Formats: sequence, structure tokens, C-alpha cells
Amino acid sequence: MIAAADFKIIKSEKSKLNEQSLENIPFGKYFTDHMLEVDYENGEWKNVEIKPFQPLSLSPALAAIHYGQAIFEGIKAYKSPEGEALIFRPHDNFRRFNISAERMQMPTVPEDIFIEGMKMLINLDREWIPSFKDHSLYIRPFMFSSDEMIGVRPSENYKFMIILSPTGPYYNTPMRIYVEEQYVRAVPGGVGYAKAAGNYGAAMHATAEAKRKGYDQVLWTDAFEHRYVQECGTMNVFFIIGNKAITPDLSTGTILSGVTRDSVIQTLKEMDLHVEERPLDIEEIILAHKSGSLREVFGTGTAATISYIKELRYKEYVMEFDVTNWKTAPEVKDRLNAIRYGIADDRHCWMMKV
Ligand SMILES: *Cc1c(COP(=O)(O)O)cnc(C)c1O
Repeated sequence: MIAAADFKIIKSEKSKLNEQSLENIPFGKYFTDHMLEVDYENGEWKNVEIKPFQPLSLSPALAAIHYGQAIFEGIKAYKSPEGEALIFRPHDNFRRFNISAERMQMPTVPEDIFIEGMKMLINLDREWIPSFKDHSLYIRPFMFSSDEMIGVRPSENYKFMIILSPTGPYYNTPMRIYVEEQYVRAVPGGVGYAKAAGNYGAAMHATAEAKRKGYDQVLWTDAFEHRYVQECGTMNVFFIIGNKAITPDLSTGTILSGVTRDSVIQTLKEMDLHVEERPLDIEEIILAHKSGSLREVFGTGTAATISYIKELRYKEYVMEFDVTNWKTAPEVKDRLNAIRYGIADDRHCWMMKV
């Protein structure tokens, strides 16, 4: 048990806040005054510190750099009209973080470090949560192996950290998507369900090739048959067909269980849509498109909440959508945002007040 008294807090002498307007700042580029840093040594978590945001000094033999035991999370905090700090579903990210940790043979992080540390850090840097429309504070917890030894084995030492980045609106223009049939993101038995750093590095080549062909992102398909749709880049994906919403199920372990995905499913049900989580064949999507029942396609994730897909290309077949006519995705987005910014009733108790 880590008590609040075990947190060592070293405040920065001067805030960087005055140097930088928080309006319309790009995602992930600016960081707040403080960070959380915790060490795992000899089988226990220790040196729980909140201190000025600063570079790390690390050995070139650092295990994480060579063998990739590294995981992360992405969470957002919002400012309510009353000026309260509200964090969206952090316990769900906490649980997922430890699922990722177990898959990567890393130690789990106790709740009183992950959640309480996040609360203390946000409390200290709460002025950094922008109060402009559609702005938020992005929270990035992460862990990496820190043995200073080149040997392929699970590390004995780790660092757990949280950094915070204020962020402006994510101007997500509707995306053009290439259905990927050559490269794969995840396989059954693999690490697709973990938010492991290597998954993102491994996806970059396919994404770059799709960009060269004029697309914004790939829609991943299953590794064996390249038929069943998986995720869209680093977002979960939803298809509105007739009065049903369909999203791939999580049973194969190849899909990251998004907190936004779960929130969107609950919201769609509240809007009286029938939601199906099941394998979804690209041929079914094409047939729905041909019959005119494929109405909306969108990706979901913390960074952008919902990203509309205006074009989907599978081999030579191109599906185009007029997103200005959509009803479902915009309503889901509005409903979620109203809860996040403390405007609508938080009936699911999704928001944690700091
Ligand atoms: C983070 C992530 C998502 C979205 O998860 P959220 O919890 O909604 O942010 C989806 N797919 C992948 C591969 C991801 O890394």
C-alpha cells in the first residue's frame, strides 16, 4: 500500500504556463510543469515522485530500447463550466494498463500509484486544463523496462511515469481509408489487445504506404484471410448498416478494447440502435453498400473521440459517403462530449472529479 504521505512532491519553481497560450495547441507537443515518476526495484514499487517535467538520464543499454517491454495509456481530462477537473473513465484505462503489463511480462501497477498519482499530478497542474471549446488535457501514463543490461529476458527494473499534455481540438477531417490486405497489425495469440509500444512501430510502414497511395489510414483485416475487419489505424471501427451498429468483437485478442468503443456502444444502445459485436466480413460491408443500407462508418478513440470515414477502398471497389447527411455519429459525439465537459448528466458515473 502506498499512502499519500509516501508521495514525494517537488514543485517547479516557475510555471511555464505564462509562456504559452493553451488555445489551439497541437496534440502531444507541449507538456505541463510536472510529471510522476516511480521505480520498480527488487520486486516493489518505490520512489514515488511528482517533480518538475524534465529529461531522463538513461543507459544506452536500457532494456526497453533493445527489447521493447514498453506500454502506455491515453486518457483525457476536461474542465467543466464550473471549473472542475473531470477525468474520463480512468479506472478503465488503469485495468487495461495492467492487462498490457501482464501480456508483456511486466509488473502490474497498484491503483494507489496509477489513480492517486494521476489525481495528485492533475491537481498540481490543473491550471493547464484548457477551458476553450473542445480542448482537453491528454494524460499519458507509461511504463518501460529499465535494466541496464543487454540480455534477452524480462527486465528486473521498470519505470512507471505519467506526463500531461494540453491539447486543442482535434481537427479531424473525414478520412479516406485503404483496406489493408498485405500487412497485418495483430494475430490471435499475439499482442494486439495490449497497448504495447511495438504495435505502433510495427504499423507505421503499412500506414506510410497507404499515405503514398493517397489515403489517410488503413483498415486492418484479419491475418489469415484478410476478410474480417479489425481496427482503423489506432481506432476501433463502427459500421451503421440499416438500423444496426456493427463493430468487430474482442474475442480473438487482435483488437484493442477501446474505452471510447465501450462508451460508444452504450451510447448507441441509449439511442435505440441495435448493436452487434461480431466478426464482420468486408464482403458484408460491400453488399450493404451496394444495397444502399451502409449509412455511416467511423473510428473511435480517445484522441479524436469519433473520426468520420468518407471513403473506404477495398481492392478496386470504392465506397464513398456524404458525411454531411449523417445523423448517428454526430449525435454520439455530442452526447459523449456533453458528459465529458460536465454539461449532461453523468448517469454512468464515467467522470472522476479531481
Ligand atoms: C488506444 C487505441 C484504441 C482506442 O482506445 P481508447 O481507449 O478508445 O482510446 C484503439 N485501437 C488501438 C490500436 C489503440 O491503441
